[in-house]
Amino acid sequence: MSVALPLAGGCQCGALRYELSAPPLMLYACHCTNCQKQTGGAFVLSTGIVENALAFTQGEPARFEWVSDAGNQRYGLFCGACGGRIANGQTPSIGVLSLRAGTFDNTSWVRPAAHIWVKSAQSWVRFQDDDLLYDEQPTDYAPIVERFRSYTGFNA
Ligand SMILES: [Zn+2]
Ligand SMILES: [Zn+2]
Repeated sequence: MSVALPLAGGCQCGALRYELSAPPLMLYACHCTNCQKQTGGAFVLSTGIVENALAFTQGEPARFEWVSDAGNQRYGLFCGACGGRIANGQTPSIGVLSLRAGTFDNTSWVRPAAHIWVKSAQSWVRFQDDDLLYDEQPTDYAPIVERFRSYTGFNA
């Protein structure tokens, strides 16, 4: 697979646009209760990216803060016009943001390398035999990064 950088994307209405200048680090599905509430869906497809590789090329994101299921102080960046969530970060910064995978213009490479917060996954969600599953927040992301690279070819 070859996907050219920068990776561009944006919100549902198009007022907020971004470019990602470095390859994504990993991608996983998060089944935590905050992701379920925020989207109204079953889980979020979250792309781990280098924080300073993300630039907003159009519009300024609005901000929302909360405490995560793991007890961390988190914030969300979203479009003030349509409400579309683009990315989540942490305070103090850990240097990595979670970018919503469905907001990329080209989602052909999007596929979760792991599922996290499986303990609060909807009961009808079925996992594949070789999926990496974590009951809560992973303590070691290395296996997720390795699996993600193995099928995307991204090498950060
Ligand atoms: Zn918008
Ligand atoms: Zn979550």
